[in-house]
Amino acid sequence: MRPWGHLPAEGRGRLLGKVVVITGAAASQGAAEAEALAREGARVIATDVTEAPACRRLDVTSEKDWAELAADLREAYGQVHGLVNNAGVTWRARIDDVRPDDMARVHAVNVTGPLLGIQHLAPLMPAGASIVNVGSSAALTAHYPVAYTASKWALRGLSATAAMELGPRGIRVNTIHPGFIETDMTASAAPAFREANLLGTPLGRTGTVDDITPLITFLLSEDSAFITGAEIPVDGGLTAHGGAKPISDALRPGA
Ligand code: NAD
Repeated sequence: MRPWGHLPAEGRGRLLGKVVVITGAAASQGAAEAEALAREGARVIATDVTEAPACRRLDVTSEKDWAELAADLREAYGQVHGLVNNAGVTWRARIDDVRPDDMARVHAVNVTGPLLGIQHLAPLMPAGASIVNVGSSAALTAHYPVAYTASKWALRGLSATAAMELGPRGIRVNTIHPGFIETDMTASAAPAFREANLLGTPLGRTGTVDDITPLITFLLSEDSAFITGAEIPVDGGLTAHGGAKPISDALRPGA
């Protein structure tokens, strides 16, 4: 097994010696997370359904892939200290034309995938291990791509249940909710989607992968030792105003 953690561990990293698995790490947020965690001294097992040089192939919906990974990790390291359930897919059909198989396909990746990861890797996790699930601002609001939105709301339920069930074993489970982050996923959206997000974001900009990685590092590290079951938006304030920003903007003096 070839871990991503090829950067020299200098004895100061916050994740020194921790074995961390990341899904969907071939590109975008997952690739940035893999690099950031390796810089903190983690032995990162980067995985993706897409072939990529630094990634092990793993389809998060495949029980076989997870079972093989768990067996290899058991043999190579004996323990796993972190899991980042980052892989996700969107499907931009609206409520009028979304199909049952769209719902099932998106749910399989965004919800069943994280469940399988937890089921296969938690048995290898010692007390102090940490799981981070990647939700979305769509998990906190009504977002028009209904298959994606419903799956990310479901992921919140899985995360809360896992935090409750794994807590007694000292395993923490937290969820982050990115807003509009500049990645391959958002690059494939209509330009109007980006503009509308900017209008709704109090900080007035989109996010980058570098806005996400420090939070993932924190949640995997012992700095967050008493935090579990938490849900943390990383969205420039997009979800905090609950739709009130257009009202505030309209009534601003000089608007
Ligand atoms: P992306 O589409 O750029 O990358 C997703 C990665 O997941 C890809 O490398 C893809 O190959 C992989 N993947 C897809 N299906 C998979 C499967 N079955 N098994 C394993 N890997 C699979 O997406 P991103 O923008 O980097 O998003 C990462 C996570 O953040 C996702 O869960 C996404 O829903 C979430 N998110 C993204 C944004 C955003 O604005 N980019 C906002 C909110 C939430």
